[in-house]
Amino acid sequence: MEQNKDLIQFDIPIAKRTYFNNSNSILKKKLLILSPFLLLLFSVFALRLIRNVEIGSLDNSNFQVLINHDHRILGHLPYAEIPKEKLVLIDPNIEVHVDMRDSLIKMRNEAKKDGVFLVFLSGYRSINLQNEIFYSLKSFRNQEAAERARVSAPPGYSEHSTGFAIDIGDATQRETDFETKFENTDAFKWLIKNAAKFHFKLSFSKDNKFIDYEPWHWRYEGSIEALKVFESSNRKF
Ligand SMILES: [Zn+2]
Repeated sequence: MEQNKDLIQFDIPIAKRTYFNNSNSILKKKLLILSPFLLLLFSVFALRLIRNVEIGSLDNSNFQVLINHDHRILGHLPYAEIPKEKLVLIDPNIEVHVDMRDSLIKMRNEAKKDGVFLVFLSGYRSINLQNEIFYSLKSFRNQEAAERARVSAPPGYSEHSTGFAIDIGDATQRETDFETKFENTDAFKWLIKNAAKFHFKLSFSKDNKFIDYEPWHWRYEGSIEALKVFESSNRKF
């Protein structure tokens, strides 16, 4: 029994080692032969994974990518506030950039000659006022920032702070003020036909993918300064 025990103790480790070494070298050989294929398989898998991640993130954050490219926030571009000395009062409580005053008043007069009565609803808005509008309405309406941004610009991102934006209504249909149904008024139909002659352009048309359609919101592009201000907005993606 003692001898047997010694033999077992002596034999088994060697047997084990030999067996293990054999299997190890076979495994190594197999791995060596297979390694190019495994490498190829791994590369293909890794490439597909990277591609899927890239495509996936593009699909999900196309919006985000566009934001990063032109500094949009929730679809709105940043705008600096107009220096106070460039503001002029055109109606009680309506201030605009001095560059667009004449054109705007001329447009209203020309419309009147055609029997169409434009009313100016909102011109220059300070970033502070925009702050109030954006955040107070947001909490009042219990809206998420992104949801709210579809209908109102975050502070610092409103065309109104440039003094080159004007919200227009129809004096004979005030119930359509700031409503999409303004598009059915004579005022809007007249503007669509004539506003370009006075260098006014609809900012948020129906095909704007970031911001909801605002038929009442027009901007002036009739001076070099105005064109510079809206340059990135006019750039096509
Ligand atoms: Zn507006």
